[in-house]
Amino acid sequence: MKKYDYLIVGSGLFGSTFAYKAKQAGKSCLVIDKRKHRGGNIYCEEIEGINVHKYGAHIFHTSNKEVWDFVNSIVEFNRYTNSPIANYNGKLYNLPFNMNTFYQMWGVTTPQQAKEKIEKQKAAAIESMKNSGITEPRNLEEQAISLIGTDIYETLIKGYTEKQWGRKCTELPAFIIKRLPVRFVYDNNYFNDKYQGIPIGGYNRLINGLLDGIEVKTDEDFFKNRQYWESIAKKIIFTGKIDEFYGYQFGKLEYRTVRFEEEIHDCSNYQGNAVVNYTEKEVPYTRIIEHKHFEMFGVEVDNCPKTVISKEYSTEWKEGMEPYYPVNDEKNNLLYNKYQKLAEKENNVIFGGRLAEYKYYDMAPVIERVLKLSL
Ligand code: FAD
Ligand code: UDP
Repeated sequence: MKKYDYLIVGSGLFGSTFAYKAKQAGKSCLVIDKRKHRGGNIYCEEIEGINVHKYGAHIFHTSNKEVWDFVNSIVEFNRYTNSPIANYNGKLYNLPFNMNTFYQMWGVTTPQQAKEKIEKQKAAAIESMKNSGITEPRNLEEQAISLIGTDIYETLIKGYTEKQWGRKCTELPAFIIKRLPVRFVYDNNYFNDKYQGIPIGGYNRLINGLLDGIEVKTDEDFFKNRQYWESIAKKIIFTGKIDEFYGYQFGKLEYRTVRFEEEIHDCSNYQGNAVVNYTEKEVPYTRIIEHKHFEMFGVEVDNCPKTVISKEYSTEWKEGMEPYYPVNDEKNNLLYNKYQKLAEKENNVIFGGRLAEYKYYDMAPVIERVLKLSL
């Protein structure tokens, strides 16, 4: 007799949501995580009364009402709207690309003027693609220029993207940039989704709510005691790296990772915004996060005398580092497909989440996927 219905490897959002669902269905489960805490990449640590997003800024956004209602049934969310600022050589631009950005870039004030400007810049690029017999953008550079023109590409995209991914824009997949909206209204909301916010009291409350009443063991690496873990449950929910699960038999998948340099400052407001992106190549970090602005508004900012910021340095992943972003280029996708073929044959293992599906997943689609799984 197996002790548990499910062994859940990983207490991130995928594993925790699955555990919640399993418990509701009357199943027994054990969650293990190799980190010293639960929550995976959404884990926060309280410093100077501020919830610091230890693995990078996380803003929850979705248009899926079922997902929004689900997370709000666990913890109430605030009204935070992400509106990052880009700093290029000391000049500031609003993001995502909208009428404010176009005004700052070219001095244009109407949508018509902005469209004309962009169309003119796009036309040259599209023409040259046509001349080479290309109908669809083949890489991020072609996608970005055919979407928004050369000025914005050179100022706000090229440097940032090459820093973030450590690869030339011509070698990156086009889909990465499709995430960013382009708008001809004065609207700095980074996301198009209907619902957006941060859990009031921080993400740990979401994770603790999901894992309430569930047995969790941290500091336990599945691979250090694999046989034992496999013996105690009928099924395994695996949210770690899929290539590691299969002993890297086809080779290693590549990831990007981020190094966070945290600073505490003796002032109540360091940069006036939660997110400031540094889009030129010469600044070594990609962005600075000022965590208090996710949850403190108006006088709350001044009433909290200190502030915590994180500078994000993006680097190639190596053994021993945290694998954050799957590099979904052709080479890695082909490799992943080989592992996925093995995974499809498993009867007692479900692979889910960013690492196990090697997918550039946001939080809401992770929850959506779990809610759709049948137990
Ligand atoms: P994870 O959170 O990575 O959880 C996997 C867990 O498995 C980890 O805790 C890990 O320690 C554990 N584990 C792995 N291997 C083993 C093992 N061998 N044994 C035991 N445990 C193991 N999404 C948004 O919606 N909005 C955002 O603003 C946003 N910003 C992001 C910023 C950054 C820098 C990053 C990296 C991601 C961001 N995301 C954002 C995505 C979000 O983090 C993911 O969608 C979500 O965390 C995925 O959850 P997961 O459970 O799949 O993975
Ligand atoms: N991006 C950019 N300039 C910016 C912000 C983003 O060029 O100022 C590009 C970059 O290629 C990035 C992609 O847009 O990988 C998606 O950005 P997003 O902020 O959604 O990425 P995240 O860090 O949240 O995964």
